[in-house]
Amino acid sequence: MSIFPVEQIRADFPILGETIRNKPLVYLDNAASCQKPQAVIDSIVHTYSHEYANIHRGVHTLSVRATDKFEGAREKVRAFINATNTKEIIFVRGATEAINLVAQSYGKSQLQAGDEIVISAMEHHANIVPWQMLCQQIGAVLRVAPMNQQGELLFGAFEQLLNDKTKLVAITQMSNALGTINPVEKIIAAAHAKGIPVLLDGAQAIPHMAVDVQALDCDFYVFSGHKLYGPSGTGVLYGKQALLEAMPPYQGGGDMIRQVTFAKTEYAGLPHKFEAGTPAIAEIIGLGAAIDYVTAIGMDNIAAYEAELLDYATQQAEQIKGLNIIGQAAHKGGILSFTLDRIHPHDIGTMLDSLGIAIRAGHHCAMPVMDFYGVPATARASFAMYNTRQEIDVLMQGIKSLIEVFG
Ligand code: PLP
Repeated sequence: MSIFPVEQIRADFPILGETIRNKPLVYLDNAASCQKPQAVIDSIVHTYSHEYANIHRGVHTLSVRATDKFEGAREKVRAFINATNTKEIIFVRGATEAINLVAQSYGKSQLQAGDEIVISAMEHHANIVPWQMLCQQIGAVLRVAPMNQQGELLFGAFEQLLNDKTKLVAITQMSNALGTINPVEKIIAAAHAKGIPVLLDGAQAIPHMAVDVQALDCDFYVFSGHKLYGPSGTGVLYGKQALLEAMPPYQGGGDMIRQVTFAKTEYAGLPHKFEAGTPAIAEIIGLGAAIDYVTAIGMDNIAAYEAELLDYATQQAEQIKGLNIIGQAAHKGGILSFTLDRIHPHDIGTMLDSLGIAIRAGHHCAMPVMDFYGVPATARASFAMYNTRQEIDVLMQGIKSLIEVFG
């Protein structure tokens, strides 16, 4: 790769010019949500200024414009993850809603009492709770594939959980709490060998690597727009067409119907069957702009640059006495979860904020991961394509000064 144009990219993100407590902002909370490039902000302003109306309903010009742009965003998502066709792209509010949709629609219609769903020990609550709710509703059983101390899935133990009763595997492609990148190709092959469909939670993976749902052969793939430099309130459920066709709607209302009488309703076809009500129109068009933005940079270039950043941050962190890295998988994305001896993660977060550094402190919506490591919380620095080595230096300097004063 030629030199990664990080300064040029930074200049596209107005918020990165903010000062926080009189210090330049160092934004390292990207796993929670990423900042937005001017192109995405402009897209939203443009839609509301020139192309906004409700979609799929009006014959008037603005409605047609908005509909074309909205459906254009669907095509951008399709191409971005290489789905076969746009019927397989369902717009939702985020990864959470996408998983709930699959649990309530696919889960309730295809699973029965005694059937099993396999997840992993490192899941976000969004990929735990919807399955627990489904299990309670229908009497299915949730099985959890364990991980080792490095935060790597124990693949043998995962495979042993797959049996005749297993009806779905739902697993994260990349852990938000640890950074672990799971061997999803192997996971999918093992599940498919037993005829079990696989849902991948791509919420963390999608901004960091190229995703090809056909090459992966996953059955469902979910992600949130706000973690991909797009607007919040946007998300995507990809599903193989045959699976989606067989699933009942998740919610009822306008836009998801073909014909309604008081006696009965005929549902619309894909993808509209799953898109009841007015969606986040300008935001989804903005997600299309985010996809254009990262595509122009190149997902492989982003992945290579972020891998260097993580290596650098890990090397620096390893040299700090009293800093414990939580999650040391051999295959990891740009997340550095850590604790400091004698300083609570929340205090780390607050004190770093006074230096202009934004990190996350807490359980990261992965309480079982915290339980596994026997910690109430971790501090988490998470990197995006606009972060720099200098920012990592500022973080490390900040951590060292905390240890000096409070450690
Ligand atoms: N899955 C993972 C791995 C996540 O990191 C997140 C958000 O942090 C989610 C699911 C849920 O995403 P959202 O809150 O955008 O629906």
